[in-house]
Amino acid sequence: MMARVAVFFRAAALWALLLALFPSPRASSAHAGETLVFALCYHSFLGSARYAGDVSPAELAGQLDELSSRGFRFVTLSDIDAGRLRGTRNVLVTIDDGNASVYDAYFSVFRPRGIRPLLCIYPGVIGRKSYSLTWERLARLVQDGCEVASHGYYHLGLTSALFEEDRQAFEHEIFGSRKKLEERLGVRVRSFAYPSGVHSPQARRLLAEAGYSYAFTILWGPVRLPGDLDGSRLTLPRYMIYRGNWPVVLGAVSKRASSASAQPAASQTPGGR
Ligand SMILES: [Zn+2]
Repeated sequence: MMARVAVFFRAAALWALLLALFPSPRASSAHAGETLVFALCYHSFLGSARYAGDVSPAELAGQLDELSSRGFRFVTLSDIDAGRLRGTRNVLVTIDDGNASVYDAYFSVFRPRGIRPLLCIYPGVIGRKSYSLTWERLARLVQDGCEVASHGYYHLGLTSALFEEDRQAFEHEIFGSRKKLEERLGVRVRSFAYPSGVHSPQARRLLAEAGYSYAFTILWGPVRLPGDLDGSRLTLPRYMIYRGNWPVVLGAVSKRASSASAQPAASQTPGGR
């Protein structure tokens, strides 16, 4: 019995060695299968232990460089719109809430790497709280090529209960936020990030009515192109980054990107564009 087990392990080890030396043609053809975009969700870059969602600028730089070294490239919503993305190693950086620290992090970390994050902003705090960006600084980031998404007006959870209790407040989160952002920044806002990731059928219906093209949750998973642009464009997944969860996020993203690149083209969604 022991001898048979030993033979099995020797055979398995040999097989693993052969796979490592001669990867299958499918595994190396990254463009044959799905196109994937991994949206990351950051919050602030203060280097403060007080906030779970905070990472220091040095940690941020390390994370982005780790992605680059694994062959990931950084993309924007405009790249998705243009249909020019291929492969499984695309990353969209999103930053929620408009924390004041985003300004310095942009110029010291993102910009030198050619990364234009999607800034998910709720106007209720901009220029009004010491921890938030000012309108002037936000406009400067937009001038430099950062895209802006609405993140509600006052960051209210868009639940069915809120819709029933205060329809006006609910609608203001969707319509009012975009109006304010567009007026103050002179850009078109066509994407939304659900505050706290909370959404409801009413929220999705009104976002569609308002003409938003994309809305992001905080459920993990890749955005699959073009399939998700048909049925799921208002519930797109994101990976939220907390202090300490980077190894888990990086592992999950890398594994998904590798397994998708191993899929043959025939496994694409039928009828997918
Ligand atoms: Zn938020």
